[in-house]
Amino acid sequence: MKKRIAILGSTGSIGSQTLRVIDEQPELFTVEVLTANSNAELLINQAITYLPNVVVIGDKNKYTKVSDALIGYDIKVYAGEDSISQIMEMDTIDIVLIGITGLTALVPILTALKNKKRIALANKECIVVAGELISKTALEYGGQIIPVDSEHSAIFQCLMGEINNPIEKIVLTASGGPFLNKSQVYIKNASPAQALAHPNWNMGNKVTIDSATLMNKGLEAIEARWLFDLDYSKIDVLIHPQSIVHSLVYFSDGSVKTQLSVPDMRIPIQFALTYPQRLATSFQPLDLIQIGTLDFLQPDVKKFRNLALAFKALEIGGNMPCIINAANDIGVQAFLDGKIGILHISDIVEQSMNTIPRIEKPGLSDYFETDILTRKKAIELIK
Ligand code: MG
Repeated sequence: MKKRIAILGSTGSIGSQTLRVIDEQPELFTVEVLTANSNAELLINQAITYLPNVVVIGDKNKYTKVSDALIGYDIKVYAGEDSISQIMEMDTIDIVLIGITGLTALVPILTALKNKKRIALANKECIVVAGELISKTALEYGGQIIPVDSEHSAIFQCLMGEINNPIEKIVLTASGGPFLNKSQVYIKNASPAQALAHPNWNMGNKVTIDSATLMNKGLEAIEARWLFDLDYSKIDVLIHPQSIVHSLVYFSDGSVKTQLSVPDMRIPIQFALTYPQRLATSFQPLDLIQIGTLDFLQPDVKKFRNLALAFKALEIGGNMPCIINAANDIGVQAFLDGKIGILHISDIVEQSMNTIPRIEKPGLSDYFETDILTRKKAIELIK
């Protein structure tokens, strides 16, 4: 029987790449649900191509546009964020690909897990902010989380068959982004276009800027803490400019496992959909002779302060990861809007960490409140 897939955020970078994975395996997968935040045109096109049972447009103002365009097709159309959560209860969904960014995905994730779905998780923010709650919910209800983030997919793959073997440490690899060998002055004056020119990966704007500042790796360290139930002291970061080694797991006997592939998000996306099976693809194969050299360097946390700040937040815990996530979000947007320099994002994050009240054991509502409070504070700091 075909696996029925719900793609949350089908018009974004991860969502579109997921559709390309499904294109490769039409006999294995069928699209059950497509959701988009506001890109009605692309959502309509995707709906006509894939004929899902349900589409949801987040922006309620665009409901009529989408439903009018899909008259005559056997597709139910809904609007609004609440509809996305409600749809997670549908028993015609086998796997939910979480391709939407931000905390908007949190309630849909929890609802999907409570309904015992497999989640292919590409959203970083929710696990960073509410990792404890998400992993508890998965455990309690029997939902399954398969990481799509390439580093976490690599670690997940390395841990297959290692059930009773303790992890000594994990090392997340980072490409270093477009500013790896650039001077402090160059980075300080860099334009959004320069920061968006990622050497290896094709991703959305927010995560590309986070790669340039290394905040992405900091958020991924927090993500790893919850996905693999690890103490922060067991998580490390290495710069690996070629993006071929997608992270490493160190075991107590001195053995180190890794997963290598060309940097193509379709590989971890497909694995999350087919796990534990692997399927042949037409993607570019890995040619190590052509690549020749694999380099590894220590990250420069003086130049890229976000990485150190994220590790500090990981160590402190509570609502601190929520604070850095929200402050960084506002900082990245201000940089993209030309209001601040890229290095200034770290100042916004640090000042938010120092001023927003800490909550040691936050619940679901605390996360949303901390998020709102921090965004307000960060906007003030930018003014
Ligand atoms: Mg990643």
